[in-house]
Amino acid sequence: MSEKSISAELKEKLFYERKNGRLKADDTVLSAADEYCEGYKQYLNLSKTEREAAKVSIKMAEEKGFKPFVIGESYSAGDKLYINNRGKTVAFIIVGTEPVEKGVNITAAHIDSPRLDLKPNPLYEELELALFKTHYYGGIRKYQWPTVPLALHGVFALRDGSVVEVSLGEADDEPKFVVNDLLPHLAAEQSKRTLSEGIKGEELNVLIGSHPFRDDKGSELVKLNILKLLNEKYGIVEEDFISAELELVPATKSCDIGFDRSMVGSYGQDDRVCAYPALTAILDIEKPARTAVVILADKEEIGSEGNTGLNSDFVRYVITDLAKMQGGDGTVALRNSRCLSADVNAGMDPTFQGPFERRNAALLNYGVVITKYTGARGKSSTNDASAEYVAEVRAMLDNADIIWQTAELGKVDAGGGGTVAMYIANLGVNVIDLGVPVLSMHAPFETTAKLDIYMCYRTMYEFMK
Ligand code: MN
Ligand code: MN
Repeated sequence: MSEKSISAELKEKLFYERKNGRLKADDTVLSAADEYCEGYKQYLNLSKTEREAAKVSIKMAEEKGFKPFVIGESYSAGDKLYINNRGKTVAFIIVGTEPVEKGVNITAAHIDSPRLDLKPNPLYEELELALFKTHYYGGIRKYQWPTVPLALHGVFALRDGSVVEVSLGEADDEPKFVVNDLLPHLAAEQSKRTLSEGIKGEELNVLIGSHPFRDDKGSELVKLNILKLLNEKYGIVEEDFISAELELVPATKSCDIGFDRSMVGSYGQDDRVCAYPALTAILDIEKPARTAVVILADKEEIGSEGNTGLNSDFVRYVITDLAKMQGGDGTVALRNSRCLSADVNAGMDPTFQGPFERRNAALLNYGVVITKYTGARGKSSTNDASAEYVAEVRAMLDNADIIWQTAELGKVDAGGGGTVAMYIANLGVNVIDLGVPVLSMHAPFETTAKLDIYMCYRTMYEFMK
Protein backbone atom coordinates (compact mmCIF):
# COMPACT_ATOMS: atom_id res chain seq x y z
CA MET A 1 0.00 0.00 0.00
CA SER A 2 1.49 3.31 -1.07
CA GLU A 3 0.14 6.25 0.81
CA LYS A 4 1.43 9.58 -0.47
CA SER A 5 3.23 11.73 2.04
CA ILE A 6 1.77 15.13 2.86
CA SER A 7 4.61 16.87 1.04
CA ALA A 8 4.12 14.71 -2.06
CA GLU A 9 0.44 15.55 -2.10
CA LEU A 10 1.14 19.25 -1.65
CA LYS A 11 3.78 19.16 -4.35
CA GLU A 12 1.38 17.57 -6.78
CA LYS A 13 -1.09 20.33 -6.05
CA LEU A 14 1.30 23.29 -6.10
CA PHE A 15 4.30 22.56 -8.32
CA TYR A 16 4.42 23.10 -12.07
CA GLU A 17 6.00 19.86 -13.24
CA ARG A 18 7.13 19.37 -16.82
CA LYS A 19 6.88 15.96 -18.39
CA ASN A 20 7.92 14.41 -21.70
CA GLY A 21 4.92 14.45 -24.04
CA ARG A 22 5.70 11.00 -25.38
CA LEU A 23 5.13 9.66 -21.86
CA LYS A 24 1.92 11.64 -21.44
CA ALA A 25 0.38 10.81 -24.82
CA ASP A 26 -1.23 7.44 -25.48
CA ASP A 27 -0.44 5.27 -28.51
CA THR A 28 -3.39 6.60 -30.53
CA VAL A 29 -2.03 10.14 -30.27
CA LEU A 30 1.52 9.05 -31.12
CA SER A 31 0.42 7.18 -34.22
CA ALA A 32 -1.80 10.10 -35.27
CA ALA A 33 1.31 12.29 -34.98
CA ASP A 34 3.33 9.87 -37.13
CA GLU A 35 0.64 9.80 -39.78
CA TYR A 36 0.23 13.58 -39.75
CA CYS A 37 3.94 14.08 -40.35
CA GLU A 38 3.88 11.96 -43.53
CA GLY A 39 1.86 14.76 -45.14
CA TYR A 40 4.14 17.35 -43.59
CA LYS A 41 7.25 15.76 -45.09
CA GLN A 42 5.67 15.79 -48.55
CA TYR A 43 4.70 19.44 -48.16
CA LEU A 44 8.32 20.28 -47.27
CA ASN A 45 9.63 18.60 -50.44
CA LEU A 46 7.16 20.51 -52.64
CA SER A 47 7.60 23.90 -50.93
CA LYS A 48 11.26 24.86 -50.97
CA THR A 49 10.59 28.58 -51.51
CA GLU A 50 7.84 31.01 -50.50
CA ARG A 51 6.49 31.03 -54.08
CA GLU A 52 6.27 27.23 -54.12
CA ALA A 53 4.76 27.07 -50.62
CA ALA A 54 2.12 29.64 -51.65
CA LYS A 55 1.30 27.70 -54.82
CA VAL A 56 1.12 24.29 -53.14
CA SER A 57 -0.97 25.70 -50.26
CA ILE A 58 -3.45 27.34 -52.66
CA LYS A 59 -3.77 24.10 -54.59
CA MET A 60 -4.51 22.15 -51.40
CA ALA A 61 -7.07 24.80 -50.39
CA GLU A 62 -8.77 24.83 -53.79
CA GLU A 63 -9.23 21.07 -53.50
CA LYS A 64 -11.17 21.79 -50.29
CA GLY A 65 -13.39 24.39 -51.95
CA PHE A 66 -11.48 27.62 -51.28
CA LYS A 67 -12.01 30.33 -53.95
CA PRO A 68 -10.35 33.71 -54.61
CA PHE A 69 -11.90 36.52 -52.54
CA VAL A 70 -13.49 39.18 -54.73
CA ILE A 71 -14.05 42.64 -53.27
CA GLY A 72 -17.69 43.65 -53.70
CA GLU A 73 -19.03 40.10 -53.61
CA SER A 74 -20.96 39.08 -50.52
CA TYR A 75 -20.16 35.85 -48.75
CA SER A 76 -21.98 33.87 -46.12
CA ALA A 77 -20.98 31.72 -43.17
CA GLY A 78 -18.97 28.68 -44.19
CA ASP A 79 -17.67 30.23 -47.43
CA LYS A 80 -14.00 29.41 -47.99
CA LEU A 81 -11.82 32.08 -49.56
CA TYR A 82 -8.22 33.05 -50.20
CA ILE A 83 -6.32 36.22 -51.04
CA ASN A 84 -3.10 35.76 -52.98
CA ASN A 85 -0.63 38.60 -52.45
CA ARG A 86 1.81 38.47 -55.40
CA GLY A 87 2.23 34.70 -55.16
CA LYS A 88 4.31 35.01 -51.98
CA THR A 89 1.90 35.74 -49.13
CA VAL A 90 -1.55 34.19 -48.91
CA ALA A 91 -4.54 34.64 -46.59
CA PHE A 92 -6.98 31.71 -46.25
CA ILE A 93 -10.37 32.57 -44.80
CA ILE A 94 -13.51 30.76 -43.65
CA VAL A 95 -16.39 33.16 -43.00
CA GLY A 96 -17.84 32.62 -39.52
CA THR A 97 -21.43 32.66 -38.33
CA GLU A 98 -20.71 35.73 -36.14
CA PRO A 99 -20.09 39.18 -37.68
CA VAL A 100 -16.46 39.89 -38.58
CA GLU A 101 -16.70 43.10 -36.54
CA LYS A 102 -16.90 40.97 -33.39
CA GLY A 103 -13.37 39.79 -34.14
CA VAL A 104 -11.68 37.01 -36.11
CA ASN A 105 -9.22 34.26 -35.18
CA ILE A 106 -5.93 34.69 -37.04
CA THR A 107 -3.12 32.15 -37.28
CA ALA A 108 -0.01 33.54 -38.97
CA ALA A 109 3.12 31.67 -40.03
CA HIS A 110 5.83 32.40 -42.57
CA ILE A 111 6.82 30.46 -45.67
CA ASP A 112 10.18 32.05 -46.51
CA SER A 113 13.35 30.37 -45.19
CA PRO A 114 17.05 31.26 -45.07
CA ARG A 115 18.89 30.45 -48.30
CA LEU A 116 21.32 31.81 -50.91
CA ASP A 117 19.82 34.29 -53.41
CA LEU A 118 21.54 35.06 -56.70
CA LYS A 119 22.90 38.58 -57.08
CA PRO A 120 21.36 40.67 -59.90
CA ASN A 121 24.50 40.12 -61.99
CA PRO A 122 25.56 36.69 -60.75
CA LEU A 123 27.30 34.83 -63.58
CA TYR A 124 31.09 34.83 -64.00
CA GLU A 125 34.00 32.66 -65.05
CA GLU A 126 37.22 32.10 -63.11
CA LEU A 127 39.95 29.53 -63.86
CA GLU A 128 37.71 28.16 -66.62
CA LEU A 129 34.92 27.33 -64.17
CA ALA A 130 31.53 29.10 -64.20
CA LEU A 131 30.07 30.36 -60.92
CA PHE A 132 27.17 32.35 -59.47
CA LYS A 133 27.66 35.20 -56.97
CA THR A 134 25.09 35.03 -54.17
CA HIS A 135 23.73 37.26 -51.43
CA TYR A 136 22.44 35.18 -48.55
CA TYR A 137 18.85 35.71 -47.38
CA GLY A 138 18.07 35.64 -43.65
CA GLY A 139 20.28 34.79 -40.72
CA ILE A 140 22.47 31.92 -41.85
CA ARG A 141 25.62 30.58 -40.27
CA LYS A 142 27.67 30.88 -43.44
CA TYR A 143 30.12 28.06 -42.65
CA GLN A 144 27.23 25.54 -42.82
CA TRP A 145 26.45 26.11 -46.51
CA PRO A 146 29.55 24.94 -48.45
CA THR A 147 29.73 21.31 -49.67
CA VAL A 148 25.95 20.88 -49.44
CA PRO A 149 24.20 19.86 -52.71
CA LEU A 150 22.00 22.76 -53.79
CA ALA A 151 18.97 23.11 -56.07
CA LEU A 152 18.00 26.27 -57.94
CA HIS A 153 14.41 27.54 -57.62
CA GLY A 154 12.70 30.72 -58.70
CA VAL A 155 11.69 32.82 -61.66
CA PHE A 156 12.97 34.96 -64.49
CA ALA A 157 10.53 37.84 -65.14
CA LEU A 158 11.02 39.00 -68.72
CA ARG A 159 10.51 42.40 -70.36
CA ASP A 160 7.49 41.13 -72.30
CA GLY A 161 5.67 40.45 -69.00
CA SER A 162 6.09 36.69 -69.09
CA VAL A 163 7.52 34.76 -66.16
CA VAL A 164 9.70 31.69 -66.61
CA GLU A 165 9.77 29.28 -63.68
CA VAL A 166 12.94 27.47 -62.68
CA SER A 167 13.30 24.36 -60.52
CA LEU A 168 16.43 22.34 -61.06
CA GLY A 169 18.25 19.91 -58.79
CA GLU A 170 15.40 18.23 -56.91
CA ALA A 171 14.93 15.06 -58.99
CA ASP A 172 17.57 12.36 -58.52
CA ASP A 173 18.66 12.58 -62.15
CA GLU A 174 18.89 16.38 -62.21
CA PRO A 175 22.21 18.19 -61.75
CA LYS A 176 22.89 19.98 -58.45
CA PHE A 177 25.06 22.96 -57.57
CA VAL A 178 27.59 23.48 -54.78
CA VAL A 179 29.61 26.03 -52.83
CA ASN A 180 33.12 24.65 -52.37
CA ASP A 181 35.52 24.94 -49.43
CA LEU A 182 39.26 24.50 -48.87
CA LEU A 183 40.78 21.13 -48.12
CA PRO A 184 42.02 20.75 -44.50
CA HIS A 185 45.61 20.31 -45.73
CA LEU A 186 45.70 23.90 -46.96
CA ALA A 187 43.27 25.49 -44.52
CA ALA A 188 45.85 26.57 -41.92
CA GLU A 189 45.20 30.29 -42.52
CA GLN A 190 41.43 29.96 -42.96
CA SER A 191 41.18 27.90 -39.75
CA LYS A 192 42.45 30.87 -37.72
CA ARG A 193 39.32 32.82 -38.63
CA THR A 194 36.43 33.04 -36.17
CA LEU A 195 33.47 30.74 -36.83
CA SER A 196 31.31 33.63 -38.09
CA GLU A 197 34.04 34.57 -40.59
CA GLY A 198 34.99 30.97 -41.44
CA ILE A 199 33.23 31.40 -44.74
CA LYS A 200 32.63 35.02 -45.71
CA GLY A 201 29.60 36.33 -47.59
CA GLU A 202 31.61 36.91 -50.77
CA GLU A 203 32.94 33.34 -50.59
CA LEU A 204 29.49 31.79 -50.99
CA ASN A 205 30.06 31.36 -54.72
CA VAL A 206 28.24 28.52 -56.40
CA LEU A 207 29.87 26.22 -58.95
CA ILE A 208 27.62 25.80 -61.98
CA GLY A 209 29.74 24.47 -64.85
CA SER A 210 33.12 23.64 -66.35
CA HIS A 211 32.58 22.79 -70.03
CA PRO A 212 33.93 25.42 -72.48
CA PHE A 213 32.07 26.27 -75.67
CA ARG A 214 34.12 24.49 -78.36
CA ASP A 215 35.89 27.34 -80.07
CA ASP A 216 39.63 27.87 -79.62
CA LYS A 217 39.32 31.63 -80.02
CA GLY A 218 37.62 33.93 -77.54
CA SER A 219 37.52 34.16 -73.75
CA GLU A 220 34.95 33.16 -71.11
CA LEU A 221 33.97 30.09 -73.08
CA VAL A 222 32.62 28.21 -70.03
CA LYS A 223 30.34 31.13 -69.16
CA LEU A 224 29.32 31.34 -72.81
CA ASN A 225 28.37 27.67 -72.84
CA ILE A 226 26.30 28.08 -69.65
CA LEU A 227 24.40 31.01 -71.20
CA LYS A 228 23.82 28.97 -74.34
CA LEU A 229 22.30 26.17 -72.22
CA LEU A 230 20.17 28.64 -70.21
CA ASN A 231 19.01 30.30 -73.42
CA GLU A 232 17.96 26.96 -74.90
CA LYS A 233 16.18 25.83 -71.72
CA TYR A 234 14.61 29.06 -70.44
CA GLY A 235 14.85 31.48 -73.40
CA ILE A 236 16.85 33.98 -71.36
CA VAL A 237 19.97 36.11 -71.90
CA GLU A 238 22.42 37.31 -69.24
CA GLU A 239 20.63 40.63 -68.68
CA ASP A 240 17.47 38.76 -67.62
CA PHE A 241 19.12 37.83 -64.29
CA ILE A 242 18.50 41.45 -63.30
CA SER A 243 14.74 40.85 -63.09
CA ALA A 244 14.94 37.35 -61.64
CA GLU A 245 14.42 35.86 -58.19
CA LEU A 246 16.55 32.76 -58.05
CA GLU A 247 17.18 30.97 -54.79
CA LEU A 248 19.64 28.20 -53.99
CA VAL A 249 18.29 25.81 -51.37
CA PRO A 250 19.54 22.42 -50.13
CA ALA A 251 18.66 19.73 -52.68
CA THR A 252 17.95 17.24 -49.90
CA LYS A 253 14.58 15.64 -49.08
CA SER A 254 12.79 15.54 -45.74
CA CYS A 255 13.10 12.32 -43.75
CA ASP A 256 12.60 10.68 -40.38
CA ILE A 257 15.36 11.07 -37.81
CA GLY A 258 16.33 8.46 -35.24
CA PHE A 259 16.08 4.67 -34.89
CA ASP A 260 12.64 5.31 -33.36
CA ARG A 261 11.58 7.64 -36.23
CA SER A 262 10.25 10.13 -33.68
CA MET A 263 11.67 13.22 -35.40
CA VAL A 264 11.69 14.96 -38.78
CA GLY A 265 14.81 16.28 -40.53
CA SER A 266 14.58 18.72 -43.42
CA TYR A 267 15.56 22.04 -44.90
CA GLY A 268 13.07 24.87 -44.41
CA GLN A 269 11.23 23.73 -41.29
CA ASP A 270 11.47 27.30 -39.96
CA ASP A 271 8.66 28.09 -40.49
CA ARG A 272 6.87 25.53 -42.64
CA VAL A 273 6.63 23.44 -39.45
CA CYS A 274 4.02 26.02 -38.40
CA ALA A 275 2.72 26.94 -41.88
CA TYR A 276 1.66 23.36 -42.65
CA PRO A 277 -0.25 22.92 -39.36
CA ALA A 278 -1.95 26.32 -39.85
CA LEU A 279 -2.96 25.41 -43.40
CA THR A 280 -4.16 21.88 -42.62
CA ALA A 281 -6.06 23.16 -39.56
CA ILE A 282 -8.12 25.62 -41.61
CA LEU A 283 -8.63 22.99 -44.33
CA ASP A 284 -10.20 20.74 -41.68
CA ILE A 285 -12.65 23.38 -40.41
CA GLU A 286 -16.19 23.75 -41.79
CA LYS A 287 -18.25 26.60 -40.32
CA PRO A 288 -16.61 28.35 -37.35
CA ALA A 289 -18.41 30.86 -35.11
CA ARG A 290 -15.68 33.48 -35.52
CA THR A 291 -14.23 33.99 -38.98
CA ALA A 292 -10.99 31.99 -39.29
CA VAL A 293 -7.99 33.51 -41.07
CA VAL A 294 -4.65 31.84 -41.81
CA ILE A 295 -1.85 34.06 -43.09
CA LEU A 296 1.17 32.43 -44.71
CA ALA A 297 3.68 35.24 -45.05
CA ASP A 298 6.84 36.07 -46.94
CA LYS A 299 9.92 38.08 -45.82
CA GLU A 300 9.86 37.17 -42.11
CA GLU A 301 13.49 36.12 -42.24
CA ILE A 302 14.61 39.59 -43.31
CA GLY A 303 12.43 41.58 -40.92
CA SER A 304 8.95 41.25 -42.49
CA GLU A 305 9.66 44.25 -44.74
CA GLY A 306 8.23 44.86 -48.22
CA ASN A 307 4.68 44.54 -49.55
CA THR A 308 4.64 40.77 -49.01
CA GLY A 309 5.98 41.01 -45.44
CA LEU A 310 3.69 41.45 -42.44
CA ASN A 311 5.16 44.82 -41.51
CA SER A 312 2.92 46.03 -44.36
CA ASP A 313 -0.80 46.76 -44.30
CA PHE A 314 -1.72 43.37 -45.78
CA VAL A 315 -3.36 41.93 -42.62
CA ARG A 316 -5.16 45.23 -41.96
CA TYR A 317 -6.63 45.20 -45.48
CA VAL A 318 -7.66 41.55 -45.29
CA ILE A 319 -9.62 42.10 -42.08
CA THR A 320 -10.97 45.48 -43.22
CA ASP A 321 -12.20 44.04 -46.53
CA LEU A 322 -13.93 41.19 -44.69
CA ALA A 323 -15.62 43.59 -42.24
CA LYS A 324 -16.68 45.97 -45.04
CA MET A 325 -18.32 43.16 -46.95
CA GLN A 326 -20.77 42.89 -44.01
CA GLY A 327 -21.09 46.66 -43.60
CA GLY A 328 -18.85 46.49 -40.53
CA ASP A 329 -15.86 48.50 -39.36
CA GLY A 330 -12.38 47.02 -39.93
CA THR A 331 -10.75 48.82 -37.01
CA VAL A 332 -13.33 47.47 -34.59
CA ALA A 333 -12.87 44.00 -36.08
CA LEU A 334 -9.09 44.18 -35.55
CA ARG A 335 -9.45 45.34 -31.96
CA ASN A 336 -11.71 42.37 -31.23
CA SER A 337 -9.47 39.85 -32.99
CA ARG A 338 -6.97 37.41 -31.57
CA CYS A 339 -3.95 35.79 -33.14
CA LEU A 340 -1.51 32.94 -32.81
CA SER A 341 1.77 34.15 -34.25
CA ALA A 342 3.11 30.77 -35.21
CA ASP A 343 6.85 30.46 -35.48
CA VAL A 344 9.56 28.11 -34.32
CA ASN A 345 11.39 28.34 -31.03
CA ALA A 346 14.88 27.03 -30.27
CA GLY A 347 14.89 23.50 -28.91
CA MET A 348 17.47 23.05 -26.16
CA ASP A 349 20.39 21.17 -27.66
CA PRO A 350 22.05 18.50 -25.47
CA THR A 351 25.47 19.39 -26.91
CA PHE A 352 25.08 23.18 -26.79
CA GLN A 353 23.21 23.90 -23.56
CA GLY A 354 25.16 27.04 -22.74
CA PRO A 355 22.88 29.73 -24.22
CA PHE A 356 19.72 28.20 -22.73
CA GLU A 357 18.17 28.66 -19.30
CA ARG A 358 16.83 25.24 -18.45
CA ARG A 359 13.65 26.31 -16.63
CA ASN A 360 12.56 28.48 -19.53
CA ALA A 361 13.84 26.55 -22.54
CA ALA A 362 11.85 24.49 -25.04
CA LEU A 363 12.53 20.75 -25.11
CA LEU A 364 11.80 18.38 -27.97
CA ASN A 365 8.67 16.26 -27.36
CA TYR A 366 7.35 18.57 -24.63
CA GLY A 367 4.67 19.85 -27.00
CA VAL A 368 3.76 23.08 -28.75
CA VAL A 369 5.61 26.05 -27.23
CA ILE A 370 3.91 29.25 -26.11
CA THR A 371 6.21 32.24 -25.85
CA LYS A 372 4.91 35.31 -24.06
CA TYR A 373 7.66 37.49 -25.47
CA THR A 374 10.69 37.06 -27.73
CA GLY A 375 12.97 40.07 -28.19
CA ALA A 376 16.48 40.71 -26.88
CA ARG A 377 18.29 42.95 -24.40
CA GLY A 378 15.55 43.65 -21.88
CA LYS A 379 12.57 42.47 -23.93
CA SER A 380 13.16 45.07 -26.63
CA SER A 381 11.35 44.67 -29.96
CA THR A 382 8.77 42.16 -28.93
CA ASN A 383 5.05 41.70 -28.55
CA ASP A 384 4.69 40.91 -24.85
CA ALA A 385 1.35 39.08 -24.74
CA SER A 386 -0.89 40.21 -21.90
CA ALA A 387 -1.33 37.82 -18.97
CA GLU A 388 -5.07 37.69 -19.66
CA TYR A 389 -4.52 36.49 -23.21
CA VAL A 390 -1.91 33.92 -22.12
CA ALA A 391 -4.45 32.62 -19.60
CA GLU A 392 -7.08 32.29 -22.33
CA VAL A 393 -4.69 30.29 -24.53
CA ARG A 394 -3.53 28.10 -21.59
CA ALA A 395 -7.14 27.26 -20.77
CA MET A 396 -7.88 26.40 -24.39
CA LEU A 397 -4.86 24.06 -24.58
CA ASP A 398 -5.67 22.26 -21.33
CA ASN A 399 -9.37 21.90 -22.17
CA ALA A 400 -8.43 20.19 -25.44
CA ASP A 401 -5.77 17.91 -23.85
CA ILE A 402 -3.04 19.46 -25.95
CA ILE A 403 0.54 18.87 -24.81
CA TRP A 404 2.28 22.22 -24.46
CA GLN A 405 5.19 23.99 -22.82
CA THR A 406 6.39 27.55 -22.40
CA ALA A 407 9.80 28.97 -23.26
CA GLU A 408 11.84 32.05 -23.91
CA LEU A 409 14.38 32.21 -26.72
CA GLY A 410 17.58 31.44 -24.80
CA LYS A 411 19.19 33.06 -21.77
CA VAL A 412 18.73 36.73 -21.01
CA ASP A 413 21.19 38.68 -23.19
CA ALA A 414 22.39 35.50 -24.95
CA GLY A 415 21.01 36.82 -28.23
CA GLY A 416 17.33 36.89 -29.08
CA GLY A 417 15.05 37.18 -32.05
CA GLY A 418 11.72 38.38 -33.37
CA THR A 419 8.66 37.13 -35.20
CA VAL A 420 5.67 38.70 -36.97
CA ALA A 421 3.84 38.95 -33.60
CA MET A 422 4.61 42.62 -32.98
CA TYR A 423 3.40 43.73 -36.42
CA ILE A 424 0.02 42.07 -35.92
CA ALA A 425 -0.15 43.36 -32.34
CA ASN A 426 0.39 46.88 -33.72
CA LEU A 427 -3.02 46.57 -35.40
CA GLY A 428 -4.68 46.22 -31.99
CA VAL A 429 -4.99 42.43 -32.13
CA ASN A 430 -4.31 40.20 -29.11
CA VAL A 431 -1.25 38.14 -30.14
CA ILE A 432 0.87 35.38 -28.64
CA ASP A 433 3.87 33.58 -30.10
CA LEU A 434 3.42 29.86 -30.41
CA GLY A 435 5.21 27.14 -32.36
CA VAL A 436 7.45 24.11 -32.56
CA PRO A 437 10.94 23.71 -31.05
CA VAL A 438 13.69 23.19 -33.63
CA LEU A 439 17.29 21.98 -33.40
CA SER A 440 19.83 23.59 -35.78
CA MET A 441 17.43 26.41 -36.67
CA HIS A 442 18.37 28.17 -39.96
CA ALA A 443 20.81 25.40 -40.91
CA PRO A 444 20.52 23.59 -44.27
CA PHE A 445 19.00 20.69 -42.33
CA GLU A 446 16.82 21.32 -39.27
CA THR A 447 15.36 18.82 -36.77
CA THR A 448 11.92 18.80 -35.10
CA ALA A 449 9.86 16.26 -33.14
CA LYS A 450 6.71 14.71 -34.63
CA LEU A 451 4.64 15.00 -31.47
CA ASP A 452 5.32 18.74 -31.20
CA ILE A 453 4.29 19.25 -34.85
CA TYR A 454 1.03 17.39 -34.33
CA MET A 455 0.31 19.37 -31.15
CA CYS A 456 0.89 22.56 -33.14
CA TYR A 457 -1.76 21.42 -35.64
CA ARG A 458 -4.18 20.51 -32.85
CA THR A 459 -3.68 23.92 -31.23
CA MET A 460 -4.45 25.79 -34.42
CA TYR A 461 -7.50 23.67 -35.15
CA GLU A 462 -8.80 24.24 -31.63
CA PHE A 463 -8.12 27.99 -31.89
CA MET A 464 -9.97 28.49 -35.18
CA LYS A 465 -12.70 25.82 -35.17
MN1 MN B 1 10.66 31.72 -38.21
MN1 MN C 1 13.81 32.11 -38.78
